[in-house]
Amino acid sequence: MTVALYAFTCGHLTMPFKSFLEGEEGTLKVPVPAYLVVHEKGSVLFDTGLNPHAVHEDARYRGQVHKSHEFHVTQHELLPARFEDAGLDISTVTHLVNSHLHFDHAGGNQLAPDVPVIVQKRELEHAREAGLPFGYVAEDFETGQSFNTITGELDLFGDGSVVCLPTPGHTPGHQSLKVATDIGQFVLAGDACYLRRSLDNLHLPRFRHDEEAMLASLRTLRDLQQRGATIMYGHDPDFWKDIPQAPTRLG
Ligand SMILES: [Zn+2]
Repeated sequence: MTVALYAFTCGHLTMPFKSFLEGEEGTLKVPVPAYLVVHEKGSVLFDTGLNPHAVHEDARYRGQVHKSHEFHVTQHELLPARFEDAGLDISTVTHLVNSHLHFDHAGGNQLAPDVPVIVQKRELEHAREAGLPFGYVAEDFETGQSFNTITGELDLFGDGSVVCLPTPGHTPGHQSLKVATDIGQFVLAGDACYLRRSLDNLHLPRFRHDEEAMLASLRTLRDLQQRGATIMYGHDPDFWKDIPQAPTRLG
């Protein structure tokens, strides 16, 4: 089974450094990633980046996101343009998986309007309960798309090549995606692991939904790394500098 994995950096965010690593001063400008996995039985979008309203410095939209977050995103960096530039067709996407429903991961769900959203049940419940103070902007994920809510692991194509893996802690229903390609396994960590340093040093961010769960998820990722998987850190600017962008395949 040949599975192709593509990465897209869909703009950047500047946030307090301590939001990524407790104890750090100043700010950090980080990439906002999304991925496409192409399998013979379907194409999977993993995370969708920022809301198109963020492009236009839409004060109404931005007013909903914490003021310490600064957006850097152009129309050209949104998924439809990125797909087109890469010679890919966003209308061929059959599965949309969100790691979680924060504004920088589900903001572009509306760009694949006919595709049901695969998310952990606990995540959707939490997003609806917790709302804006916790980084959830309703208009990002309440798009009218149907949800396929899951609990635990989900093997998307039944052959073990693309598997949703719960990695809670950042949020209660966070999940990562394991992707087996010809050149090895990749784990799209999402915000279960922001930076390489998060994993190397088990260094947590300032804000934790559940510290124990976060550490357990990092240990799960370390275990996969030790067994040869490449961990794709969710927001590591140094790591992402060298990540090949679609149409170049990552795996
Ligand atoms: Zn994030």
